[in-house]
Amino acid sequence: MREDDSTISNRPDGSTSNDSPRFIIITGGVLSGLGKGIAGASIGHLLSTRYKVIPIKCDGYLNTDPGTMNPIEHGEVFVLDDGSEVDMDFGHYERYLNCTCTKEQSLTMGKVFTAVQEKERRGDYLGKTVQFIPHVTDLIIEKFKKAAEGSDIAIIEIGGTVGDIENELFIEAARQLAIEVGRKNSLFVHLTYVPYLDNVKELKSKPTQISVKQLLERGISPDMIICRSNRPITDVIKRKISIFCNVSEESVFSGHDLEYTYDLPELLYDQGIIKKLNKYLDLELDPEPKLLWPALISNIRHPENEITIAICGKYTALEDSYASIFEALTHCSAHTKSKINIRMIETTNIKNEEDAKVKLQDVDGMIVPGGFGDRGTEGKIQLIRYARENDIPFLGICLGLQLATIEFARDVCGIEDADSEEFNQYAGSKIIAYLPGQHKGIDMGGTLRLGSYEAHLDSSSKIYDIYGKESIVYERHRHRYEVNPEFHDILKKNGLSLAGFSPDKRLVEFICLEDHPYFVATQAHPELKSKLEKPAPLFLGLAKAAIMHRHAFQKEMQAN
Ligand code: GLN
Repeated sequence: MREDDSTISNRPDGSTSNDSPRFIIITGGVLSGLGKGIAGASIGHLLSTRYKVIPIKCDGYLNTDPGTMNPIEHGEVFVLDDGSEVDMDFGHYERYLNCTCTKEQSLTMGKVFTAVQEKERRGDYLGKTVQFIPHVTDLIIEKFKKAAEGSDIAIIEIGGTVGDIENELFIEAARQLAIEVGRKNSLFVHLTYVPYLDNVKELKSKPTQISVKQLLERGISPDMIICRSNRPITDVIKRKISIFCNVSEESVFSGHDLEYTYDLPELLYDQGIIKKLNKYLDLELDPEPKLLWPALISNIRHPENEITIAICGKYTALEDSYASIFEALTHCSAHTKSKINIRMIETTNIKNEEDAKVKLQDVDGMIVPGGFGDRGTEGKIQLIRYARENDIPFLGICLGLQLATIEFARDVCGIEDADSEEFNQYAGSKIIAYLPGQHKGIDMGGTLRLGSYEAHLDSSSKIYDIYGKESIVYERHRHRYEVNPEFHDILKKNGLSLAGFSPDKRLVEFICLEDHPYFVATQAHPELKSKLEKPAPLFLGLAKAAIMHRHAFQKEMQAN
């Protein structure tokens, strides 16, 4: 227990200067998938009302990054401005902390081992036997400190659950770091699961007790416990956890299921977390900070419109693979006061116009998201054609832009064999092609164009208006292929607005149809920068167009 709560302190006090960053270490117990990222990000959200907060995420796997991992297995690959491919939790952190993360903040065991091996080959260990402790743990600590440089508070989230072999070294490194920086500069938060048993109608604290014991075995006594559950944690259970887990009762927080995860900062705030953070970390957070989110969430709770947006994709099996798209749509709900129903459309069986019509008949807008490989692409092309010809608002993202361009080339420009080099290496007309030399560097994902790129918008296009009349915009990319410059002229001549280009005018970044209610696509992934306070402009534009579409539809129904 923290000495400032009561009597016992089982951790040495390093009492270092408080100018150096503080570290909040988030561990998980009982189950994975409880939402450590959201919990860490919610604490960070409250802290960021006054301090510069950065997240550091540790993943125990041996891949260097999740770039090559199947999204069905691992969820969405999030891309940072600097081009690194990172865990989707970075999405939560950037959204909750309003920060821009860098590759130093993403630590996988793969990266750590590579660094240790490199050091060993360089002879940096001076003939010593290279060992997990201290060499690997020291390197992890060094990376924690490096990533935290310049921040007031670093939130270190350790992936998985306590007891997983693959995360032991991160936990050990965090323990040592806490000793080094002292107790006013470190805080351990443990996220656990409190199940409700129907047969006895009770919440059960035992799994939490066991997972805290596992943490204690590793020399860490949590300072705060956040309990995930499907209902609010009662005071009786909080007391029990307090007694058995050696934390004060006010440091046990209910983190029960919420309708919107954006409600979590307020839930923690209502339970007094700010007071605790101020006390434990010697901070000066405003005890009653002005939180912007409750009003925005209230807009989502009390909608004035209802629309249906279709997402036409391949990875419909795991919704996590489109996490940022769902988030961006939630942000639009808050700003348009609308309930957005999401309809997932699996496109592999869509063969013709009739199939597309059936799928889209009661839809107010559609998104064709990013993707790799050719499965389902012909179905998506059918859907795009239907949207184009029937004035259904459409937003194409990355692969969505490529398919919209192919569809336009085939149907409007009459280039029947238009295709992407990705789907058909021998296509007669490679409208979408690999253009060597467009990516920033071989190390970052080989031939993928990754990270933030500048685009110049045509001031006479709709896209320019949608972006609030900005002529230069930055969005994040993750793709290999581009609209082939050999076809720019013919596409333009036939009425496709190539509305945004790379500064050298070679790469098409945005397209749209100026005479369609909303037919817009981008080679980038604008969903990655969408925030609850400021939705991605292209998504907001889609939501607004979809509301108009719904109103027009309702009017028509009334007239008939
Ligand atoms: N597969 C396409 C490419 O590599 C699109 C990628 C994506 O949508 N992210 O260019």
